Amino acid sequence: MLGDGSLERLKREGRIVVVGASLAGLRAAETLRAEGFEGSLTMIGDEPHEPYDRPPLSKQVLLGRAAADRTALPRLRSVDATWRLGVPATGLDMAAGRVRLADGDEVPYDRLLIATGVRARAWPREAEAELDGVFVLRTRDDSAALARRLEEGPKRVLVIGAGFTGSEIASACRERGLAVTVAERGAAPLVGALGGVVGAVAAEMQREHGVDLRCGVMVTALEGDASGRVRAAHLSDGSTVETDIVIVSLGAIRNTEWLAGSGLGAGPRGIACDAGCRAFDIRGIVTDDIYAAGDVARSPHPLFGYQFLSLEHWGNAASQARIAAHNMISESTDRIPHMEVPAFWSSQFGVNIKSVGVPSLGTEVLISQGALRDHRFIGVYGYQGRVIGAVAFDQARWLPFYQELIETTAAFPPPFPTVDRRSDGQRPVDADFPDPSVPTHGPTVTLGGYSPADRRMTFTPAH
Ligand SMILES: Cc1cc2nc3c(=O)[nH]c(=O)nc-3n(C[C@H](O)[C@H](O)[C@H](O)COP(=O)(O)OP(=O)(O)OC[C@H]3O[C@@H](n4cnc5c(N)ncnc54)[C@H](O)[C@@H]3O)c2cc1C
Repeated sequence: MLGDGSLERLKREGRIVVVGASLAGLRAAETLRAEGFEGSLTMIGDEPHEPYDRPPLSKQVLLGRAAADRTALPRLRSVDATWRLGVPATGLDMAAGRVRLADGDEVPYDRLLIATGVRARAWPREAEAELDGVFVLRTRDDSAALARRLEEGPKRVLVIGAGFTGSEIASACRERGLAVTVAERGAAPLVGALGGVVGAVAAEMQREHGVDLRCGVMVTALEGDASGRVRAAHLSDGSTVETDIVIVSLGAIRNTEWLAGSGLGAGPRGIACDAGCRAFDIRGIVTDDIYAAGDVARSPHPLFGYQFLSLEHWGNAASQARIAAHNMISESTDRIPHMEVPAFWSSQFGVNIKSVGVPSLGTEVLISQGALRDHRFIGVYGYQGRVIGAVAFDQARWLPFYQELIETTAAFPPPFPTVDRRSDGQRPVDADFPDPSVPTHGPTVTLGGYSPADRRMTFTPAH
């Protein structure tokens, strides 16, 4: 903006389009209105529902404590928007400033926010994925269908993949008294996000709660009966698990395919944007009218050497969306960077797990408080002599303290004494993350190097 009144015009009568009507899209729309945007606002979402909350879908909904259709996100204010729900965006014409929709419509914009998030990775063999009883869990409809099936009291449930979502599903199934097998390619649950030392605790928790946990194995095939209902899974160690429900929990795919050929810097790693949420084009040049926020975005983070960071975190989606919305309608000198320290939570097997920073970047871990054997501890992660992340198992009140250590790039191992440091916290140990060249579905944080135009990424299916 050049101080020529065009920003005021944009705020008064401009056209802002948001693609992706979920957490990031809604919070951005609310911020736009709160900050005085009076023009037209169009919310485009491929799901038929108004924005809803996803974390309860693998927790309260599967436990039967909340109905999937009662998860609508609370509204902070009215957004006075035109809602185009149930219609996916299928293309973007950057030169003309238009979004193409699946129903043939084209929606023009002066500013565009892309918040299309991620979707669940489906079971790679299509015919097996279509067997009755095979589920993924990402949407409200997925969760409602799965909760209904759990209600029927299946004899056994098989969860493929023990990342956060898979582990939460296993936990909910056990709480319902169902027999559960978890098959995980890595050495332990949560290993991609938290490493092998903490993963071993997650494994113990699962086994203590009666999960039949099988690590270091892959599911090689699903088998159905004559009526097309799943009945068994074959594993790479030669064993077979008889099951009537399979939940495929193999991580997420970023929803960027609709941008193919548009010229935007979008690919399997997400949409590259600068610290102010402005999207890059494929030449690595930042656009001034297209922004990205939430799970689909990746942006350079100063705390992590300005590598592009992708996060699948609720808190990040909400805060990045607010920043994107603010910057969309601000002079360049008033824009603010998105530099929040990542934070994530999960609850499973009766334990509240919270993390700050990027544990998966750590090479060493120190159990600075509590003890692994009690399943109540703080693990601090170190990288090149500084604190880079921390995880708390039932110790969340301490996390703001560790967040400050991360923000101030404090030395690792932290030199201070702690009241309840035990013998396993005397010195750091290898955090035991899997070889980064082997794809894992575990992390909800990914560092994506330095290139905004990076479009390389492969996933090796489990067979
Ligand atoms: C089961 C589950 C449990 C979770 N638990 C936790 C937790 O405990 N803690 C935590 O921090 N985070 C958790 N998360 C992650 C958190 O919910 C996400 O980080 C958050 O939803 C991201 O919001 P978003 O708006 O960026 O993307 P999304 O919520 O993925 O929304 C993107 C929306 O865009 C739509 N869309 C995609 N493509 C198009 C298109 N072409 N046109 C139109 N619309 C499109 C999608 O269908 C979707 O509605 C959980 C997620 C799931 C699925």
